[in-house]
Amino acid sequence: MEEKKEETLLQQRKKALCFAPQNGYDRLEEGETAKISAYCDGYKTFLDEGKTERECVDYAIALARAAGFRPLVRGEKLQPGDKVYRNNRGKSLLLAVIGQESLDKGAVIGAAHIDSPRLDLKQNPLYEEKELAYCKTHYYGGIKKYQWTTIPLALHGLVVRRDGTQVTVRIGEDPGDPQFTVGDLLPHLAGDQAKKTMGAIVSAEQLNLFVGSRPFGSEEGGDRVKVAILDLLHEKYGMVEEDFLSAELMAVPAAKAVDIGLDRSVIGAYGQDDRVCAYACLKALLDLKQTPRRTAVCVLADKEEVGSLGVTGMQSAAFDIFMSDLCQGQGVALKACYETSFCLSADVTAAYDPNFAEAYEVRNSAFFNYGVCVSKYTGARGKSGASDASAEVVGLVRRVFGDNGVVWQLAELGKTDQGGGGTVACYMANRNIDTIDAGVPVLSMHAPFETTAKLDCYMAYKGMLALYHH
Ligand code: MN
Ligand code: MN
Repeated sequence: MEEKKEETLLQQRKKALCFAPQNGYDRLEEGETAKISAYCDGYKTFLDEGKTERECVDYAIALARAAGFRPLVRGEKLQPGDKVYRNNRGKSLLLAVIGQESLDKGAVIGAAHIDSPRLDLKQNPLYEEKELAYCKTHYYGGIKKYQWTTIPLALHGLVVRRDGTQVTVRIGEDPGDPQFTVGDLLPHLAGDQAKKTMGAIVSAEQLNLFVGSRPFGSEEGGDRVKVAILDLLHEKYGMVEEDFLSAELMAVPAAKAVDIGLDRSVIGAYGQDDRVCAYACLKALLDLKQTPRRTAVCVLADKEEVGSLGVTGMQSAAFDIFMSDLCQGQGVALKACYETSFCLSADVTAAYDPNFAEAYEVRNSAFFNYGVCVSKYTGARGKSGASDASAEVVGLVRRVFGDNGVVWQLAELGKTDQGGGGTVACYMANRNIDTIDAGVPVLSMHAPFETTAKLDCYMAYKGMLALYHH
């Protein structure tokens, strides 16, 4: 028998007074490892099905309909337990489960974004140079451009033809599909390139998508490769070159979501910022077993990566109109609903990376496997652009998470003057809604292949579920 040593006074006082966070795996409840694994399987499917905001909306609607949601009809009377959604132009989605209490008691809102950095095709993309065909791209969101070279890419999007008919494009996802790539210079000849700074190693105008090299027919003439490519597009999609003008085509990483690590503790995939939080909010809403006390709302927003502007961004009135339609169904004023509402701006944060420790402030960083990360504020250089949640709001989240066995941590994004970032939080707070940031820590954020810890993914879901039920 081992003799139990008495705690010294220092040890006792340390235990009583000091904050000593533990790894999430030491804090899991009985049977939770299996729940994490099952949840993450569904999440990986969500990632593979939705590599663009349009695809995410389509897939989320399919899941919602299967869970009993129906499109909201303006002017209809709403009853507790009603499950409704509104598809905003195919690119953002608003869903709600009507609560037992009237909307003048406020809603609980989970807001995440479903757009991710990528390479958009320009409106006049296709050209031929030295008998190689390329498409010009204009990158979307904040990327390290060099990371998007020499990886397999897939082409997703929508083409609106001259006659108004629409064609959905998804090339490079099915087994045997062709894929695409952006080239980089071989190291043997990179003498000059090596002297350039990161942003210039590969310039925006070098991010040209290779699409083909075989010339059309045997006649002599220019642009034979380009014509051959157009011929293929015409055959498959009935489109002509001019149709690119009214198309939204985007090159996204072709890789599927996979487990990473011998222990499979991590997920590697494109677009986890912010589909990891989008899936958490959506799944929590769909999984509500009983009618929540307050109306539960899930927002899957577009355009966060470029400032949340436009009709499908979080600054759009589309959100206000949806909420006002819900309020009207109960004869409640929108402003009364907003001022008592609560919003979790669910977006990813930077996980501490031991390989780049110099960019982080270790005492206030988020760590893999320490759970969903609450951030009191975001912003950059002196909290500029931040929606700084009040101590009261942090206190509320702390209480709800603590009472419901949610593994969570509180951190900010990197060293104070190293950079920074923003989320949709400020646009919700500006509406007079108490808002706080929380999300999953990500490594290699905005890279074509981002990683998250499965435990943290699951805790984002568990946290959102606890808030919806609160
Ligand atoms: Mn994000
Ligand atoms: Mn982002």
